[in-house]
Amino acid sequence: MKIVMLGAPGAGKGTQAKMIAAKYQVPHISSGDIFRTNIKNGTELGKKAKEYMDQGLLVPDELTVDLVIDRVSWEDCKNGYILDGFPRTIPQAEALDAALNKDGTADSGLDFAINVDVPDENIVRRMSGRRACLKCGATYHIIYNPSKKGDICEACGDTLVLRDDDKPETVQKRLAVYHEQTQPLIDYYDGQNILKTVDGTQDMNDVFAAIIRILEA
Ligand code: ADP
Ligand code: ADP
Ligand code: ZN
Repeated sequence: MKIVMLGAPGAGKGTQAKMIAAKYQVPHISSGDIFRTNIKNGTELGKKAKEYMDQGLLVPDELTVDLVIDRVSWEDCKNGYILDGFPRTIPQAEALDAALNKDGTADSGLDFAINVDVPDENIVRRMSGRRACLKCGATYHIIYNPSKKGDICEACGDTLVLRDDDKPETVQKRLAVYHEQTQPLIDYYDGQNILKTVDGTQDMNDVFAAIIRILEA
């Protein structure tokens, strides 16, 4: 099962990707988490990526594509994976397709691109309430999905934070970037007949149920 999650920043891609990954026992691969781990560890890649992320811009394809394509070649991906936050541009999608189809077998590509659809009006509220664990990648929401331990991560005990790029000014920029550079992927995957759109404004368990229906149809 090879799945790509599409949707605006804050649409709930990560939340759903983690639930799908847990149910089907495949890795959840978040390009944003990979970058944030690099920033936390002070790597060269992290330093470069942070310059773009802090401004709400995409990290250039040259720094992103090889990183993620290498990750999906790991042994733990042999039964599939959930890609969350990648691809975000047409060239990234083309590079992924090229990597997946390099042996020329018809069934080596993606199974589904799941578009979690949430209008821009809902996004700013979602983002300002998001609380992130930069240690394990868990995500909470102060109203819709609070940690039972307040500002402490239930999974690993680290302190939760409001990401710098989740502040309203940066969210507006990220939404504009999304519409310009990432939204065209909806048509790209529709053209491959693997696009499935779910209403992301529902309760997160209802979104999950809609995704399961698609995957098990
Ligand atoms: P969100 O889950 O809110 O959509 P992510 O954690 O996926 O955010 O990404 C955070 C930031 O990391 C993005 O705003 C962008 O700067 C960078 N980033 C993540 N994935 C990619 C990608 N595939 N291409 C370019 N930049 C990316
Ligand atoms: P993305 O990965 O697309 O950026 P997240 O999964 O991190 O989005 O979700 C953004 C915020 O909205 C988080 O705080 C999350 O807890 C919350 N959230 C996710 N799905 C829903 C939902 N269906 N209803 C309300 N809040 C949600
Ligand atoms: Zn944690």
